This record gives sequence, structure tokens and C-alpha cells, in this order.
Amino acid sequence: MNKKAKYIFVTGGVSSSLGKGIISASLAKLLQGRGFSVTIQKLDPYINVDPGTLNPYEHGECYVTEDGAETDLDLGHYERFSSTPTSQANNVTTGRIYQTVINKERKGEYLGTTVQVIPHITDEIKHSVKILGETGDYDFVITEIGGTVGDIESFPFVETVRQMKWELGHDCAVVHLTLVPYLKAAGELKTKPTQHSVKTMLEQGVQPDIIVCRTERPLNVGIKTKIAQFCNVTPDSVIESIDAETIYDVPILMREEKLDIAVLEKTRTKIPKKLDLTNWEQFLKRLKNPKHEIDIALVGKYVELKDAYKSINESFVHGGSANECKVNIRLIHSEQITASTAKKLLKNVDGILVAPGFGGRGIEGKIEAVRYARENSIPFLGICLGMQCAAIEFSRNVLGHPEAHTTEINSKTTFPVIDLMEEQKEIKDMGGTMRLGSYECILDKNSKSFEVYQKDLISERHRHRFEFNNKYRELFEASGMRLAGINPKEDLVEIIELVDHPWFVGVQFHPEYKSTVRYPHPLFVGFIKAAIDYKDKN
Ligand code: GLN
Repeated sequence: MNKKAKYIFVTGGVSSSLGKGIISASLAKLLQGRGFSVTIQKLDPYINVDPGTLNPYEHGECYVTEDGAETDLDLGHYERFSSTPTSQANNVTTGRIYQTVINKERKGEYLGTTVQVIPHITDEIKHSVKILGETGDYDFVITEIGGTVGDIESFPFVETVRQMKWELGHDCAVVHLTLVPYLKAAGELKTKPTQHSVKTMLEQGVQPDIIVCRTERPLNVGIKTKIAQFCNVTPDSVIESIDAETIYDVPILMREEKLDIAVLEKTRTKIPKKLDLTNWEQFLKRLKNPKHEIDIALVGKYVELKDAYKSINESFVHGGSANECKVNIRLIHSEQITASTAKKLLKNVDGILVAPGFGGRGIEGKIEAVRYARENSIPFLGICLGMQCAAIEFSRNVLGHPEAHTTEINSKTTFPVIDLMEEQKEIKDMGGTMRLGSYECILDKNSKSFEVYQKDLISERHRHRFEFNNKYRELFEASGMRLAGINPKEDLVEIIELVDHPWFVGVQFHPEYKSTVRYPHPLFVGFIKAAIDYKDKN
């Protein structure tokens, strides 16, 4: 398929958090609905080489792609909306750009010239945008630029957009997202901040082609005309983006506002007649007309920040819709759970999910939450550290080894049920010991997991260092914990399941990264179903 890609840039002005990621993903969905193939990329202006080392409090969750890149959480939205896998190439930071340029400079690749922001940094940015288009796989590459125009650190990115627009002409368009605030005292929507942010772009040589206006109230024709006139775009290029009930309404709202048509016209692309969003609409219909309602406890230590468990929350939305069920998430701080508070905090929930995480803070609370789920036959899903806690809890309270632990937290434990692999121990000092990205797993045909996946070979994404210690495999199996999934290549335990429990599944991988609107993740679908059954019975 040798496609010639057109490039769409999505920039933001006035304020951060306007939802550039959702607008980009919605545009991709609409273009897909018209039969185009699309990929979405995020350029982040910060100096970290990737978000892998960022604290979730700082930047929300770190999203992991198939190829094991640790990326910005917006890539999660891209995949959830478009079901097209992303990769390292879809997330580039200023840090990575500089690292590449400096490495080239050290190797002498610039042949003695002075290395500068323009052209060297901007060329490198351009290269990392075009690399996706040049695969020949896409009709459109949508590139979201993080931050807000006018920021010092965004400048090289906006300059790159200017150059690409100049080079590519109609094969390139810029969608600028701004805020149109409503001033209560004046009783009016205000366009001035939008005018100013477009002016800032003009100072940097970029005229946006389409202006998407985030607003709490509908924009009337007068406001749209005013924005068009003062920002120098055609009236049908001013798109209203009104606050939505759910992010999943945005593609539908953008269809009504004809964002896709505006983009196709600007890029002189022939407009296919049909726009097929049938699956999406069915998903929304189920989501908004639930027949069931359940409460799930999400036990983790990053509960203060709503984006820290983004993909898990969204997986519940997808799996909830599949079950025609409204899923209420009750975020519970693991540090608050103890043997004496567990009952009070966890009573009345229909399922317990113990979240992924790093480090020791709150881990005893997570282990208590597992115990509560096991002893009270409440549906349980443990993800990564959550699965490791399930293994620790089982060792302590069923196998009778109160000293059991993961060596991540207690390196001297005499019952290291979770430990580094031997090979890892040797390379530990050299770093890079994290198992990242996609790995295969073979399922036991008698397991709950097999029941939900309906196949025996699966592949799931990972982000962890520690593993179930193979030394304890026989003991676990003999005592009622099924090792339901095994990584065939490295012979590692990927899934554990309590045999004598209605639904108790711990997974070493992260199913939440692969759940999309189109393909809700089977483990979430199964977990929610088990929680509905539990609620019906109690
Ligand atoms: N801290 C654990 C490990 O590194 C689990 C990581 C996670 O939950 N993502 O193995």
C-alpha cells in the first residue's frame, strides 16, 4: 500500500487541558469512518527523553505501546479511539530530539557546521513527523503538539509546522484549539483570547486553517463569524467544541460540526460520501442506557490524581458498555486499608481491582484488599503489582508464610515469592531491567482467563521488573492457585487464579493498555460480568 500521507497538526492556545488529545483522536475516528487510514502522533515539548521516569502525580499515567515505548497518556486515547496500535515513533519529546542531534554531533555527522535550533533541531523534528508518513501506510498523519503556543519551549515545534506548511502546501493543515470563555458578569462568550492566540501563531509565521473553540455554551453565528473574520479563516472552519458528557461523545459532536469535512477541504482531498460510525454509535447507546450498575473498588496509591489510572478507568467504560452496565469506580487509597479498616472501606463493593505500582508505600493495604476479596469471594482483578500482591497474600495467609514478600520491597525476605529473574540480577547495575511491551502468553484451557479470551495464545503489554518466583510454582498449584498463563519463551508466570473462588484473577501484564472502544478488553468484560453476578447474588 503506498499511500502519500497528508499532515495535520493540532496546536493549542489560551490554556492547557482543553482536550487536544481527544480532538486529535476524534478527528482520526471521523477520517477512519470515511475510509482513510490514520495515525496520530504526540510531540511533547519537555526535556525528559520519555515520560517513563515521570511521577504519575506530575503527568498522569505512563502509557506503554506494543513495542515497549513508555509514552504520554494521550497515546492511550489515540488507541482507544482508533484501535490502531502506536509505537515509539508516535511520541517524541524535546529531550529525545536533542539527544539524537547531540549524538549525531558527537559522531561528527554535521561535518563541522555550527549545530543550531534552526535548522538542526527543526530538521530532526520534521524527520520524526515524516517518518510516519513515509511508511506509506497512512493517508493522514495527525500530529498533536503538546503545550500551548507562545510557550518558549514550543517554539521549535511551531517553527517546524511553519516550514512543513510552506513545503507541503495543501497537503498540510493546522487545526488550532482554543478556549472561548463565558463571562458571567457580561453574559457573553469572549473571542479575544482566541484572537490573541492566533496572533501569537501568526507572529511565528503560522496561519491556522481551522479553529476549534472549546466552550461551555453554544457559539452563535455571530461569534463564529467574528472569530472567522478576526482570525482570518473561512466561517465553516470555526468549529464549536462544547463540553461533552463523556469524551466518547466528541467524535459525534465533531461530525455534527463537520470537522472532518473542513480538514478534507483544506487538504484538497476528495470527500468520500459515506461516514460510517455504526460501531461507535452502538457503543455509545449501550454506554448511555445501562441495564446494570456496579461499584468497583480501585485500590491504589495514586488516587489523588484522576489521570494516574487513566487506562484502567477507560477500560471499565469499554467493558461496562459491553455488559450494558454502569461501572462506578470507588478510588481507595491503599495506605488507608488495614485489617481493621478493610471491611468498612470495601463493604458493598461488587469487585476489587488492585492497581499497578512501584515501591513499598501502601503495599500492605493492597495485600489486605486482596485478602478481603479472597475471603469474601468478591470478584478480584490484580494488575501487575496487584497480581504480585495476590501472590504475597496467598503465600502469607494460605501457605502460612507470614514472611513472604517481593524483593522489590524486602530484599532479605526468606520467602521471595516475587523476585528478579537470575539473568536480571546480573545486569541490574547496568539498568534496563524492565520488561516492557508485548509478550506472548499461553493460557490453561481450564482457566477463567481462557473462558474470557476464548483462545489459548494471547499477547499483552508489560511494564515491570519483578516476576513470580518459579521456585514456588508447584506449591501454589498444589494449594489451589492455578498458574493460568505462562510466557512460553521465558517460562514465566503471567496469570494466577484462585481455583476455589468465583472470579479471582491476577495478571503480571497490563490489560488496560489494549482495551479500546471497538475491542473492549476480555478481562475487563469478564471481571465486570462477574461483579454483576456477585451483585445479583448478594
Ligand atoms: N513494581 C513492580 C515491578 O516492577 C510492578 C510494576 C507495575 O505494577 N507496573 O515488578
